[in-house]
Amino acid sequence: MEIHHSRFIIISAPSGSGKTTLVHALMDRYPYFEFSISATTRSPRSYEINGHHYHFMTVPEFKDRIENEEFIEYEEVYEGRYYGTLKSEIKRIHQAGKTPLLDIDVVGGINVKEKFQDKALSIFIQTPSLDELERRLRKRGSDQEEEIQKRLKKAAFEMTFKKYFDATVINDDLEAATDALAKVVLPFLNKEPKKGV
Ligand code: 5GP
Repeated sequence: MEIHHSRFIIISAPSGSGKTTLVHALMDRYPYFEFSISATTRSPRSYEINGHHYHFMTVPEFKDRIENEEFIEYEEVYEGRYYGTLKSEIKRIHQAGKTPLLDIDVVGGINVKEKFQDKALSIFIQTPSLDELERRLRKRGSDQEEEIQKRLKKAAFEMTFKKYFDATVINDDLEAATDALAKVVLPFLNKEPKKGV
């Protein structure tokens, strides 16, 4: 299967939508993708590894990189907390012959799609409901109550933006959601999919 080397895929979702699990299920099934590791100024969760989940850095370091134009996009997703996609990350993945998967917040996702047009496919991952989202955030157990409320508020707001995305995938059942996601992303990599892909 031919890979388009300048293309990438944007995945946006309210935090706690199960997006990470879904994206990894897609990558386990197909060898065409690689996760773009973002830079962030938030502190690592207990299970997170620097350079694997994120490139963790200080605010001054992040701002230096903005100055040096090292990002294809960045956003202050939560107050004082910056997240961004490094150009070097996209280059590394394209050079490995793969298509980058960018996990970007909803507003960032819309902006990046606007900027890169046909080079980017934007997908909104939706949770079945806000109640289910709350249940998932609590189950994760890694965030404080204040943090959960902040994320729920943001999620309700973000739901209103799904119409600006190329496609929406509802993450209810993992198997079904992986199928739905594959159906959208495979044609983007190769407009004329071969039989059996
Ligand atoms: P978390 O702190 O839960 O890992 O991520 C919080 C939010 O930041 C999520 O909505 C996630 O999609 C977003 N995010 C992660 N990396 C990036 C990035 O590189 N750019 C932007 N704009 N948002 C990001």
